[in-house]
Amino acid sequence: MNFQSIRKESIILNPVKDMARKTIPSEIRFDPLTGRTSRICHFMKLRWEKPDFEKLVTGTEKYCPFCPEKVMKITPCFPQELIPEGRLVSDDMVLFPNIAPYDTLGAVATMGSRHYIPMTEIEPERIAKTFSLAGDFFRRVKAAGHPESVYHIVNWNYMPPAGSSLIHPHLQVFSTADAPNLMRSELNASKRYLETHGSNYWDDLVRTETEKGERFLGKTGRISWMMAYAPMGTAGDVLAVADDVRSTLELTDEDFLNIATGLTRAMAAYDRMGIYSFNMNFFTGAETDDHTRFHLLFSPRTFFNQALGTPDIGALQRLFNESICMAFPEDIRDMLKSEF
Ligand SMILES: [Zn+2]
Repeated sequence: MNFQSIRKESIILNPVKDMARKTIPSEIRFDPLTGRTSRICHFMKLRWEKPDFEKLVTGTEKYCPFCPEKVMKITPCFPQELIPEGRLVSDDMVLFPNIAPYDTLGAVATMGSRHYIPMTEIEPERIAKTFSLAGDFFRRVKAAGHPESVYHIVNWNYMPPAGSSLIHPHLQVFSTADAPNLMRSELNASKRYLETHGSNYWDDLVRTETEKGERFLGKTGRISWMMAYAPMGTAGDVLAVADDVRSTLELTDEDFLNIATGLTRAMAAYDRMGIYSFNMNFFTGAETDDHTRFHLLFSPRTFFNQALGTPDIGALQRLFNESICMAFPEDIRDMLKSEF
């Protein structure tokens, strides 16, 4: 496993120290699988101020389509040939078609009736149950013999800084024959890796990271947790890899609970930095993709300038797809480790 990086240095004359020369380090890291680059730079303390949540949330429930009195009335239904009952329901969680789909089979799953759940109050059981509901949808799609039943994906945008247009916690759930950009490039690269090395990249990564320890967080069941070597998030990315699992369809309810438990640990750690928003994506192979392993990324979202509401994505990320992480992932790991 090749963890490649290029170290750089900038020299400035420091105005707060009589223009004395100051050296500022930075590093370009290459993702060991795809070669995608990520810059560790722009170093600052990982500390943000949480907003006044009451001010942020109050009134938003009035227009919320996912609140209990509205969700069964104003959300759409699937056609009979796919889901005869229209929507899938589990306790107070509801899965229905996405009114703004980005693929043939797009759904939204509400994570229960509670309109606003602070990040540290989202129970692992609630997350696991919503994942299971998404799993039920994926099995229906597969049973229907649908041509889009190839990659079964769950994405989560929690709170507006992560791209959520609603406060009410919900998941994006979709099945597609067309893997999204980065997932596709990972799948192609892991196939090449197996052909070249005769081993599974993800198995090798988990073994190496577990042994090295500097980015490793812990294990929940057969899910291994670690910091990504070349993160996309400004405060790092938490990576979880499932042993022996190729696709989402192979995950059991026990796996879902183990995934949910790890996610809540990451949330608790990032909450201490003042972060209250994140993205999470499933990365899955197709059913027979022996070259890959199911994994997910949890990426905290925050601001470059919180007072101005400046998002943590600028031109470098947006148009070059070049990431900036404001601390070494190994140091962020030390900030997260106590939760795992
Ligand atoms: Zn709501």
